[in-house]
This record gives sequence, structure tokens and C-alpha cells, in this order.
Amino acid sequence: MIEAKNAGLVYSDHGKEVFACRDITTTISEHEFVAVLGPSGSGKSSLLYLLSGLKQPTHGQILFQNDDLAKMTDAQRSHLRLNEFGFLFQQSFLLGYLNALENIVLHRTERVSAANDLLDTLGIGDLGHRFPHELSGGQRQRVCIARALISNPKVIFADEPTASLDHATGLQVVELLNKHRKGALVMVTHDESMITAANRVLRIEEGVVG
Ligand code: ADP
Ligand code: MG
Repeated sequence: MIEAKNAGLVYSDHGKEVFACRDITTTISEHEFVAVLGPSGSGKSSLLYLLSGLKQPTHGQILFQNDDLAKMTDAQRSHLRLNEFGFLFQQSFLLGYLNALENIVLHRTERVSAANDLLDTLGIGDLGHRFPHELSGGQRQRVCIARALISNPKVIFADEPTASLDHATGLQVVELLNKHRKGALVMVTHDESMITAANRVLRIEEGVVG
């Protein structure tokens, strides 16, 4: 479904080239859980940005359902990110002036009942009225999982979603994500103990997938 073909990303840092990803070729299939494992600075986030169209490769191609992301307009790529992809990050990025339920629904009021169901499923059905600062880190991450799941995305991209959580809470977050996703999951982490459920592990070091 997502194909990287010799994809690379080079940043320019004051005229100096930084090779964040080199020559990456891989295919993410429809229901796969792919983990990207590597130390800090190895290019994990950069690879996620490439696969999700947040950044354009400086070499090679990224295809989503056979369409080259680089050939799409910005509007088409953002449509993909809004409707076909879901995102989860280390920080929760919830809006502080909206409660948990409103953070999931946003302007799509027709989603209120589905959002409540998701909160229930994720074990925080009674917390929809709470504001982000009234929730624990693990509870906030569950709200973010609900926000990522609500559009039934074809792929969820998760960048170190457990890095701010204690080990047990982190494991719960991965388990919930994996259990309730309908599509593929691409999860980046530096912590091998978080990805025992993955179908496949891409090990990355200095931008190279080994
Ligand atoms: P990871 O997520 O594995 O920690 P990143 O993908 O964030 O790694 O970074 C990979 C490499 O690219 C690092 O050497 C980092 O310093 C560099 N890098 C990331 N973003 C930029 C940028 N905007 N400009 C220059 N170098 C960058
Ligand atoms: Mg990173």
C-alpha cells in the first residue's frame, strides 16, 4: 500500500548536507504493524515524514496506493493526511481549551457518538468531559489514540508514542493501538521492548535500514 523506492532525505544545514535517510526501499502492506527501531538521531522521524508525505524525498519515490506522493499537490497530500492517515506523537498535542471529547470530534459534530464509543473502548469512557491538564500522560495518549482512530485511517503513523510514559503505560498504549486499528500501523521507537507485537521491524542506523 505504501512503497518506498530508494527513498532518501538530505537536509541542508548551513550548506552542509545531512543524510537523514539513505536509499530506503520497503513496502508497508494493508494490515501490517511495522516497527522502525533505531537510536536517537538515526533517521526514524525523517523516515516517518517521508512515508506520510510530510516531507518530500530528495532521492527516490514514495507511493501510496501506486500514486507518487511527490506528484500530488499540497492540497492532495494534506487531504491524505487528514482522511487516510492517523498520527500519534510523543507529545499529545491536544488543544488545552477543548475537553477530551471535543479534541477528538473537533468540528465534526456527527462524530460525537463514535468518539464516545472509542473513549469507552479505550477505557476512559468517563473522562470525555476532562480537559487535557486534568488527565494523566497515559490518559492523554489514549485520547490521542481515539483521535487517530476516529477517521478509520488506512495507516497510523506513530512517532515514539510511548517515550513520555512509564514502561507499563507505554505497553498499554501500543496494545490499544494495535488492537483497535483497522489499517496498518507504522511505529517508531528506540525501545525494543515496545514492539514485540510487530509483524516486521525495520532497523535503522545513520539513515540506513539494515
Ligand atoms: P530520530 O527520529 O531517529 O531521532 P531524525 O530523523 O530526527 O532522527 O534525524 C536524523 C538526522 O537528521 C539527525 O542527524 C538530525 O540531526 C538530522 N536532522 C533532522 N532534522 C533536521 C533539519 N531540519 N535540518 C538538518 N538536520 C536535521
Ligand atoms: Mg525522532
